[in-house]
Amino acid sequence: MTTPYLVLARKYRPQRFSDLTGQEHVVRTLVNALKSGRVAHAFLFTGPRGCGKTTSARILARALNCEKGPTPEPCGVCGPCVDIAAGTDVDVQEIDAASNNGVDDVRALREAAKYLPARDRYKIYIVDEVHMLSGPAFNALLKTLEEPPGHIKFLLATTDPQKLPATILSRVQRHNIQLVPLGKIVARLREIAQSEKVAVSDAALSLVGRQAQGSMRDALSLLDQLFSAHDPAAGEITGEEGAETLGALDNSVVREIVAAVLARDAAAAMAGAQKAYDQGADFKRLAEDLAAHARNLVLASLPGVKQDLPDHEVRSLAQEAAEHDSAQLSRVFELLQLAQDEVSKAASPRHAVEVALLRAVYLAPSGSLPELVARVEALAGKEAPRVTRTLQASALRATVKPENEHEHDSEHEDEHEHENRPLDLKGRWRQLIEAVRAARKAGAAAALEHAVPIKIDRTGVQIGFRKGAGQAAIVQDARGALEDAFEKALGFRAPLQIVEQDAAPDASVAQEKQKQRAAASGNRIATAREHPAVRAAVEVLGGEIEDVRDLGEE
Ligand SMILES: [Zn+2]
Repeated sequence: MTTPYLVLARKYRPQRFSDLTGQEHVVRTLVNALKSGRVAHAFLFTGPRGCGKTTSARILARALNCEKGPTPEPCGVCGPCVDIAAGTDVDVQEIDAASNNGVDDVRALREAAKYLPARDRYKIYIVDEVHMLSGPAFNALLKTLEEPPGHIKFLLATTDPQKLPATILSRVQRHNIQLVPLGKIVARLREIAQSEKVAVSDAALSLVGRQAQGSMRDALSLLDQLFSAHDPAAGEITGEEGAETLGALDNSVVREIVAAVLARDAAAAMAGAQKAYDQGADFKRLAEDLAAHARNLVLASLPGVKQDLPDHEVRSLAQEAAEHDSAQLSRVFELLQLAQDEVSKAASPRHAVEVALLRAVYLAPSGSLPELVARVEALAGKEAPRVTRTLQASALRATVKPENEHEHDSEHEDEHEHENRPLDLKGRWRQLIEAVRAARKAGAAAALEHAVPIKIDRTGVQIGFRKGAGQAAIVQDARGALEDAFEKALGFRAPLQIVEQDAAPDASVAQEKQKQRAAASGNRIATAREHPAVRAAVEVLGGEIEDVRDLGEE
């Protein structure tokens, strides 16, 4: 694998434990073991590809075999140190289990292990991708691991430790090599750029670091690509140049878009999306980057939260976050995070990103909760219901009573209408029923609710019952008392006339009440959901309607 791009990766390959970027926990344990002389005879380095497993194993081999050792600080100049770094030490063998996975290979290894080292302190076997060994090969290796000669050390490495037999796992000291945080990668890249005397902008360093996704080795080969494509006469390597060379999206576009959303500037947000498109952005990746940047802003707005990001990014994030309310930042983060799902499923990821941006521009709150409530009320305008809200856990409970909704309590309604305008037939009929109720004839009043009023005047009070309705008989029986009650309410005496109807009366008080109850119980949430003010509240606050109650019920 000799490409011109491996130059930096070779030149800056870590030679000492202190060079291992981002692996402090592993380094500490190994250094302490070397200092105390309690070094295990078998090690297992696990972790994702490119994060430094075999590099760590090589450094450990030098530490063990250095003429000045075993020492946590190999001298770097003695025979073993030089030969191990060059990969030519006869006593340090590197075996790639992916290509030497047979039992014969391991038997040969066991055979060779019987003999003392030719020159060095230990015979060291570095077995890369050890999970690729065959079953019989594992058994052969296990025999050696069970009774290791004192002059043998096994340094195993794998991306897939769960594929190793428990018998192997129980005989090795395990070290987890982790992906390197972006901040540490960028800091290391900056050091290297300085010692190579190449001017690289912060934006370009961040870009390389992000592309490397935690692998220092990848970061170095990407930096190599930048260096070799760069014309030194052109001065500093900018973020734009870096994006062009590596075919990646310049993170400044991501920052511009999120800034536009926070500024509620739809035009700028759309222009940013266009710019990303022009740069050949993968919109699914863009959606991830947008959410990641919004998250970084949220974290930057919280006191005492440390982020593994390049210093220059931490500074600019803190500045930007300070200009916005935490609630707004969180809401934008939430909307952009949710958008990732939609974008990944969308036939047109670009459009899905644009929709998400517009939603975030128009719906993300721009203030504290009291400000939000004020906004909801302003949005709702003159026809506004009184919207109260309690945020319980994450759910929004909207309690709504549109002012123009009819009261369900007929008593209140009657009084109200009587005061304000002349009663129509239905209103007068309700009044008469109440007069009956006031005369302590509740049963008769309830029966009257099933009748439809036909006319109410000095010639008589005429009402209709459905044919065969039992209520007609009750009313008939109470005729005298009813006429008394009517007289009290009307101011004149009028005879009660009862008419039989074929069809079911569709305008009886009882039926209206029934309809109102159904509407109240069944449709209240649906009705509330349709109300523009409630919709605004739900969208602005990002909640759901959990319950709807009349304020009068409270
Ligand atoms: Zn040495």
